[in-house]
Amino acid sequence: MAAETIGRCRCPLCSSDRARLSLAKSKLSVLTCNACNFQGFSRSDRSDEKLRALLIAEPIEPPRDDPPAPPAPVAAAPQPAPAPRTPMSWGVLGHVI
Ligand SMILES: [Zn+2]
Repeated sequence: MAAETIGRCRCPLCSSDRARLSLAKSKLSVLTCNACNFQGFSRSDRSDEKLRALLIAEPIEPPRDDPPAPPAPVAAAPQPAPAPRTPMSWGVLGHVI
């Protein structure tokens, strides 16, 4: 079974941002850089944490359990016409100049 890819990260050796961080059977992360052929295996929680810190936010594949939301309908519903203003009744004060 292929190693589970966690995401893309920056290679600590050649600074390529196309290195890959994957999960070994030990559940510790492995850094693989195709630019300089570096492979780095974390062997403890501490190094695992350090390797994961190199991760670049965007994952290579979107998580399957989180499908992108369908685009919201753009067409706006017709706005209701503004209610006609009823003229204020000044009946009581009608004769004031
Ligand atoms: Zn590299």
